[in-house]
Amino acid sequence: MFKTALLTIVVLLVGGVTEAAEDSLTWKLGLAKIKITPTERMQLAGYASRVEPFEHVEHDLYAKVAVLEDSNGHRGVLITADLIAFFGELSDDICRRIEQQTGLKREQVLLNASHTHSGPKVSIERGATADQNETVRRYTTRLAEDIANGVAQAIEDLQPVRLEFTRGVVQFVMNRREFTAKGVILGVQPSGLADRSVPVLTARDGAGNPRLIVFGAACHNTTLTGDNLAVSGDYAGVAQQHIEKSLPGAQAMFILGCGGDANPYPRGTLELVHRHGQELGDEVLRLVAGNGKSLSGPLRTVYGTVDLPLRKVSTRDEAEKLAKSQVSYERYVGEALLARLDQGEPLASHYTAPLAVWQWGDQLTLAAISGETVVDYVPLVEKTLGPLNLWVAGYSNDVFGYLPSARVLAEGGYETRGLIRGGVGQFDPAAQDAIVKKIGELAKQAGRAD
Ligand SMILES: [Zn+2]
Repeated sequence: MFKTALLTIVVLLVGGVTEAAEDSLTWKLGLAKIKITPTERMQLAGYASRVEPFEHVEHDLYAKVAVLEDSNGHRGVLITADLIAFFGELSDDICRRIEQQTGLKREQVLLNASHTHSGPKVSIERGATADQNETVRRYTTRLAEDIANGVAQAIEDLQPVRLEFTRGVVQFVMNRREFTAKGVILGVQPSGLADRSVPVLTARDGAGNPRLIVFGAACHNTTLTGDNLAVSGDYAGVAQQHIEKSLPGAQAMFILGCGGDANPYPRGTLELVHRHGQELGDEVLRLVAGNGKSLSGPLRTVYGTVDLPLRKVSTRDEAEKLAKSQVSYERYVGEALLARLDQGEPLASHYTAPLAVWQWGDQLTLAAISGETVVDYVPLVEKTLGPLNLWVAGYSNDVFGYLPSARVLAEGGYETRGLIRGGVGQFDPAAQDAIVKKIGELAKQAGRAD
């Protein structure tokens, strides 16, 4: 009698657990993974002084797609890649293709590349007639086609999952704005602010097995330096590989945070790439082995643009003064401004930058800022939205150049050099408030509670 009663209780418990697990599978997830290792010899991106094509492939590169669908059928598409950046015109091209093939709108798509400095150059801009430009354009066009096809494929693959979010930490993220008697240089600043958090979003199937692990770090993928001629995803590539090897059947995707002014520390060798990648991968695996906070729907995906004011250079004299500066990044801006003026083109007053917010129920907000976002935007966004249930990413949807804060602009240094693409000019300190205000508006629109 006693035994039977016990058995009944056990059966009820097991039944209850199974039912609860199935009840929580309120999300659907579809995945695609595309190998994007260049097959033609190409220049690597990230270090201007390095002009030779790569010599060998150390690590394969991938673009990855996750399509997430909530119980209302709303879909969000996350696209990540072991590449230097998704520049604005490339993101727009990819999103146009996705919309043509699947009907998904721009605001449903979020692109974030790892900023590896050991991947190929990418550009769809029609350059001069040089062979190298043609190779880059051919590679990038193929990339855009493959990613759009990957999204269509991921939609075919939609399967029930549950979602969890949690956060860990890594130690190799180092502020790189070193103060010297000659001003701020690219170096090592151990007392400087750095975001060492590791956000982790996990999707599990009904049996609890991870199918997708999206994780972040706020640090340049520059463990390998300007003398490197090997293709590699740097620490983020190694971390993804490590996670996928340890959890067969799971796809790992990396989102770069506000690491505009952070480098890995120490850096310079392949051995260090493995060390940092292993540290990050192990931390993610540790977190995935535990339980995160469960995420309910709905998923809201909001996208908008903001006009960021550029510093006013009103006269040719001012541009010439910049072009003669002792400071290389001021010279860079001055020369670019002069070239514009020589061509009779007006100087731009602002740059229109995209911002995106994804909101999961009332449990998590992902604020995705464009540009090479410096770390100050983490506390700034935390202050505006409140620090809880928040993931602040940089380098999303359009990397037009560095996005400095007002503090960084006042201090000077490499991150103040302004637009690299889509125009010429340095940001005005008021750009900071414009970003933060717009993020606040988008978060509200996405349903984040005050
Ligand atoms: Zn950079």
